[in-house]
Parts: sequence; structure tokens; C-alpha cells
Amino acid sequence: MDGPRVLVCDPIHDEGVKILREAGYIVDLRTSITANEFVDAVGDFDAIVVRSRTKVTEQALEAGKRLKAVARAGVGLDNIDLNAAKQRGIIVVNSPEAPSNAVAELVLGLMLSLARRIPEADDSMKKGKWIKKRLTGIELKGKTLGIIGFGRIGYQLAKKAGALEMRVLTYVREREKFIEFVEEAGADAVDLDELLGSSDFVTIHVPLLPQTKHMIGTEEISAMKDGAYLINAARGGVIDEEALRKALVSGKLAGAALDVYEEEPPRDISLTGLQNVVSLPHIGAATIEAKRASSTVVAEKLIKILG
Ligand code: NAD
Repeated sequence: MDGPRVLVCDPIHDEGVKILREAGYIVDLRTSITANEFVDAVGDFDAIVVRSRTKVTEQALEAGKRLKAVARAGVGLDNIDLNAAKQRGIIVVNSPEAPSNAVAELVLGLMLSLARRIPEADDSMKKGKWIKKRLTGIELKGKTLGIIGFGRIGYQLAKKAGALEMRVLTYVREREKFIEFVEEAGADAVDLDELLGSSDFVTIHVPLLPQTKHMIGTEEISAMKDGAYLINAARGGVIDEEALRKALVSGKLAGAALDVYEEEPPRDISLTGLQNVVSLPHIGAATIEAKRASSTVVAEKLIKILG
């Protein structure tokens, strides 16, 4: 008998496809399928795999008479009509665990970039300047890192920062529930005020929710140590960018590193254009390993569901 049939609608790493085929699945790769073609084809499949391009609408789910699962290789589910899937008993899975290490490593890179002013040094060399005397930095060893939000990324980062001999503080919402992981990662759970007032580097790893929008604004920044650094590789809206810009211009903060913005790409470069800001075009999850993991994780989840 033929195995379950899976339609892959957007490009994913080959490794996930290989796992499905080795499990006996029939995988149809139609990675530039149009919306109409998708609705016409979906009826023949037990599961579909998408990234963000393909819109999994109610119409498509209705046409998917034998659909049991929708897999999003990646994190955001806004291209999938979750209510319509739920009503039809179709299970939706994604792979939020896939980029955790990539983001944690990027934050280490950002901290080192700020501490040793690596981007500025490189930029000066490209311009044929030798500004050695202006580029005295600081070391991470012995400094305090404050991690706001202790989920998958926060946990990975805490362990890595410990290996750099940093002291790690974390603000954990459900302290009692997660204290075992905090201790395992060598961090101390503290309240937000203590974290802000004691950290040389503050990094945010909470999701963007109504409760976390502008979680770090003027008040929180003024509670930070003078000359501290702020890093955001979570979502743009968790920091009030105007409050941050003012703190960087006034010298309250020594620097900031950003991978994410309220508007992407940012049209207004009054923040990213500052000399003491290191900014990246949302590349936190952009590693070969994370891409591979996003496809293998959803393949394994589909096998669990479809058998
Ligand atoms: P996660 O769900 O594992 O962890 C988030 C943590 O934040 C949870 O422990 C949760 O309890 C905590 N939290 C939520 N609201 C809070 C609040 N008000 N105060 C304190 N803690 C709160 O998520 P994760 O995998 O660690 O990712 C964190 C965020 O990073 C994601 O939501 C996503 O927005 C972002 N992200 C960015 C990139 C990138 O490319 N830069 C890649 C992956 C994830």
C-alpha cells in the first residue's frame, strides 16, 4: 500500500524531504505552486508543508478533503487559517525550536561586535583608515548579561554566555516552573528592575504580544546602568525605538545591536544609522543548520501525526 501523500508547497531543505521519503511517504515537490493550483491539487494529499509564501486559506482547507496535517517549516503561522483548520480537525505544526541556537550564537556575535567595536573597525579599514587608538573596547569576561525572557533562545544563550565567563541574570515570568532550567544554564532568576540595574548587556527574548509591546521604553532604559548595551533579536515592537534612539544619542546607553525593527526594512534610518548601533537585516534564523532543522523538525512531527 502507498504511504501518506505530502505536498510541499514552498522550498524547504532537502533533508526533511529525505526523512519523509525514507519513511515511505510520497512527497510531491511543487515549490512554486500558485494559489489556484494549490486549491485544485490539495484534495489528493494527507499533509502539506509550507513556509510563509503559500496561504493556507479556508477554501484550501475545505478542498483538502483528506488533509490531516499542515506543517509550517518555520515559526509564524499567520499564513494559515488556524480556526478553519481546527474546525476540520486538521493538526497544524511548526518548528519554533529550529532557530534557537542560530539566534543565541548571533547574540554572542552582537555582544562581541559592540564590546570590541568590530563593525566600526572593519568599516574604517575598508575606507583605508587606521584608527587603532580610537578603538579600545571592553571584555565580556566578568560582565553581567541580563536576559529578558527565558525560553528556548534565552536558555541557549545563558549557557553560552556562562562559557565566556559572564555572570548571567534572567527575568523569567513563571520563575518556579522554570527555575530548574535557569540553574542548569548557570543563570540567576531576578526581577526586571534588578536585571536592568545590574546588567552591562541586556538582551530581549520574549515574543511580541500586546503585553510585551514596548516592554523596554524610556522608564526601563533609564533603569539600566549608564553606559550599558541593549540587544534586540526578538521582534521590533518589544523595544520603543524612539526611546532607544534618544538614549543612544544622549550617551545614556553606550550602544545597541538590533536584528529586528518595528518596520522591516526600516525606512527611517535615524536609529540604525547611529555610529553606536550595530544593525542587521533580520538574519537571526538565517543559517544552513537552522534551515535544515526547520525542515527535519516538521518532517518528524508529520511522521508522528500520520504514522
Ligand atoms: P520561547 O517561546 O521559547 O520563549 C519566549 C519566552 O518569553 C517564554 O519563556 C515566555 O514565558 C517568555 N515571556 C513571554 N512574555 C513575557 C513577559 N511579558 N515577560 C517575561 N517573559 C515573557 O521563544 P524563543 O524560541 O526563545 O524565541 C523568542 C522570540 O525570538 C520569538 O518569539 C521570536 O519573536 C524571536 N525570534 C527571532 C528570530 C530572529 O530571526 N531574530 C528567530 C527566532 C525567534
